[in-house]
Amino acid sequence: MEIDTNENRTGLALEWAERDKAVIWHPFTQMQTAPLPIPIVRGEGTLLVAEDGKTYIDAVSSWWVTIHGHSHPYIAEKVAEQLQTLEHVIFAGFTHQPAIELAERLITILPKNQARVFYSDNGSTAVEVALKMAFQYWHNLGKPRRKVIALDDAYHGDTFGAMAVSGRSAFTAPFVPFLFDVEYIPAPVPGQEQVALERLQALLSDEVAAFIVEPLVQGSGGMVMYAPEILNQLMSLARSHGALIITDEVMTGFGRTGKLFASHYLSEQPDLMSLSKGLTGGTMALGVTTCTNEIYNAFLSGDRHKTLFHGHSFTANPLACTAALASLDLLLSDETQAAIQRIVRRQAVFAGQLKQKPGVKNVRQQGTILAFDLDVDDSNRAYFSNIRDIAYNFLLNEGVLMRPLGNVLYIFPPYCITDEELNTVYAAVEKLLRHLNQS
Ligand SMILES: *Cc1c(COP(=O)(O)O)cnc(C)c1O
Repeated sequence: MEIDTNENRTGLALEWAERDKAVIWHPFTQMQTAPLPIPIVRGEGTLLVAEDGKTYIDAVSSWWVTIHGHSHPYIAEKVAEQLQTLEHVIFAGFTHQPAIELAERLITILPKNQARVFYSDNGSTAVEVALKMAFQYWHNLGKPRRKVIALDDAYHGDTFGAMAVSGRSAFTAPFVPFLFDVEYIPAPVPGQEQVALERLQALLSDEVAAFIVEPLVQGSGGMVMYAPEILNQLMSLARSHGALIITDEVMTGFGRTGKLFASHYLSEQPDLMSLSKGLTGGTMALGVTTCTNEIYNAFLSGDRHKTLFHGHSFTANPLACTAALASLDLLLSDETQAAIQRIVRRQAVFAGQLKQKPGVKNVRQQGTILAFDLDVDDSNRAYFSNIRDIAYNFLLNEGVLMRPLGNVLYIFPPYCITDEELNTVYAAVEKLLRHLNQS
């Protein structure tokens, strides 16, 4: 059974979908074959409310951003106040309180060596800035280094620099001739630790500017998970050759892995960090790159050529910084911290149940993220195969929004999700598994 979500469209929903289709180009979407998009009129906590009144539990936090649920009244109130006070101001030569306060607060909760905050607009730009800081750091020291080492199947964003340090895949194929060279090591998943260490050892030299990782969980690569101990070893090895370490916490930041940052599981500290996604609670687009004083100091000079020549029109937008401050208030509250631990426990229980089920393999969890693979014959080609679409549509039909990555299913809920809503998600997944095992 394949569910065609187009069939259900009538009236206004159909009209909106058709107007959309006439003028809009959606992200990561094959526009010729994609079903019509679902018009959403309202968001309320965990729920997305469609034009036809149907509700969907947002079990992917709308692409990993909505950590406190939709339309949170506290964030809305703070942003509305800021909107009436100062909506935006150029951030070169000027500053404002939300940017200052947010930077101060981030510095207090990030790994202790992080000392400076550079603002941009999204996760990809937060990575671009980290890479530019790393390359220019070596340039400014007069000891240029040009190589970067990354993990196989890494995902660091869709702009050119971020794409360059991501794994090579069908997504990057048209652009490969334009991407700078990057060396890869296998992700140090259980069983691969030694291979990853040896490969890193072989690649390291005084040519290596930076080693970039998604710490503990590689998101788009298929929710690939590995242990903090091996990452500590890789980081310490890279550091012994002088390479700067960039942890891309765009996805893992802000409580997702069970701690505020994945870096908090590590004894080694990164030199640079990239943050976005959950930063504003999913309310506004904002990116942050942080670095140590050592990196920052390499840009201080009477010589203007040592300046970091990078900036965006909306750098440190006051509305976005205000949303981030409000999101931090919520995130650090006892209530949210308890909710995160509750989700971690619930996910662990469901993980145990999944391990007993036929058609499921490689069940894994890191904090609030639970992922598993649907057992299909050729997992390499699975992303483009039917199983992803069948699972996606089946779950939508059950009122649950999940976006499988090929044959990888994952539950990535907002922290406000109730036990009852989690049960609905789990029941939908179980129903999907029964359906797949029958067909
Ligand atoms: C999503 C993501 C990015 C890119 O962020 P955008 O805001 O989508 O540009 C970068 N790194 C990681 C780890 C991500 O998950």
